[in-house]
Amino acid sequence: MDMDCRQTRNYMHAHLDRELDPVTAAGIEAHMRTCAACAQAYATQTALRSAVKKQAAYYTAPDALAARIRAKVDTAGPAKKTAPRWNWFPLAAAVAATAVITWTASVQVEQGSRDERIGEQVIAGHARAILTTHLTEVASSDQHTVKPWLSSKLDFSPPVTDLTTAGFPLAGGRLDYVDSRPVAALVYRHRQHVIDLFVWPDAKAARSSMQASAKQGFNMLHWSDAGMTFWAISDVNAEDLKTFAETYASAK
Ligand SMILES: [Zn+2]
Repeated sequence: MDMDCRQTRNYMHAHLDRELDPVTAAGIEAHMRTCAACAQAYATQTALRSAVKKQAAYYTAPDALAARIRAKVDTAGPAKKTAPRWNWFPLAAAVAATAVITWTASVQVEQGSRDERIGEQVIAGHARAILTTHLTEVASSDQHTVKPWLSSKLDFSPPVTDLTTAGFPLAGGRLDYVDSRPVAALVYRHRQHVIDLFVWPDAKAARSSMQASAKQGFNMLHWSDAGMTFWAISDVNAEDLKTFAETYASAK
């Protein structure tokens, strides 16, 4: 079954949900092998969906845990009491235990996978901007335009430098939301690619070397310096992203 771009885009969500008949699914797969634009759109959809799912799982886990404990309390209570009397002590203890367990679990999740969680949010923010073609709210290659615009919307002033001479022209900036706060997203270009650089202040972050990761078709690099945290994400190769990050870090 020969499919064109429009049909591929129409069926993309159903394909992600594995709802298509095998012939249509094969048609989509065949089209994406020859069409980079549709393949990229599909990768972005996959990334977005996975990021949303992971965040949903993170937020509902403590609730599920609480429900399991509540269920245990309900079945473990003494069944042969004669008077319908509230057996409040086990219940109060269980509520307290639930609170402690939930709190402990969230602290562990917090520390153990904070980077991973932020990484998911960075992917979601980047994918959302590309999907909605809403990359820049201030479109300018002039750092003296982009920086004041961002500073006026945020409670900090992100370092903004045009890196055209190094092959990474500044395209603009926008606001995004990561790590429970508004952050600056600087948008750079490299040939046909977009590089998003998320920047926000983090007083707790010690100066750290660059950590590379690759997930869902994107390369990411994150580091901290002078009380600021930086996350770069793009579909450029890891080498180019590293060159970008090092150029940015040394230029600002
Ligand atoms: Zn196509």
